Amino acid sequence: MRTVLLGAPGSGKGTQGAVLAKKFNIPQVSTGDLLRAAVASGSELGKQAKTAMDAGALVSDEIVIGLIAERILEDDAKQGYILDGFPRNIAQAEALDTMLSKLGQPLQGVVLLDVPFEELLQRLTGRRTCRDCGAIYNIHLSPPNTADKCDACAGELFQRDDDNAETISKRLTVYQDQTSPLIAFYQQQSKLHTLIGTGDVSAISNAATDVFNSL
Ligand code: AMP
Repeated sequence: MRTVLLGAPGSGKGTQGAVLAKKFNIPQVSTGDLLRAAVASGSELGKQAKTAMDAGALVSDEIVIGLIAERILEDDAKQGYILDGFPRNIAQAEALDTMLSKLGQPLQGVVLLDVPFEELLQRLTGRRTCRDCGAIYNIHLSPPNTADKCDACAGELFQRDDDNAETISKRLTVYQDQTSPLIAFYQQQSKLHTLIGTGDVSAISNAATDVFNSL
């Protein structure tokens, strides 16, 4: 199942991607996670990516397309994958289509998580992530039982560097200007499935599961 989760920062791609990856036994491929790992490792690629990430801007197409091209050829992606945070502009979407058509394995579906702007802001400013298991919380909307501690593994919760007010606003503008044109792009390919991304998390997962089963 070759799929893309599309949506603004804070729309729930990470949360839903994790649920769906488990259900369908395919990897969730997040360019944000791959880039954060590269930054943490101190590699040359990580150094190049960090400046753009800290500013809330997009990392160069060349870097992210290279990361995806390698990742989708790994063994665990043979049965499919859920792309999370990629593509983020038309050039990346076209590069992906070219790459997949060469493999004879086109994308099957794109799920858009639609969330109003005000809620995105609240989600992003309140987001906390577990350093150990990656579980995602929100101090306003879904707080952990104990402050700063993961309910699942007791790991420390942290706030992402780019979840500060200034960078958040820049990331939402970048989404509006560069990523949202992908909605029309995938609509034209008849691959777009739009879900309301607010309300009960498991209801959204169930709706996304139905879409995946229909592909
Ligand atoms: P995310 O975790 O998806 O919110 O991504 C965090 C940051 O990583 C973004 O604000 C960008 O700086 C960078 N990034 C992630 N995915 C991409 C992509 N497909 N293209 C360019 N930059 C990306």
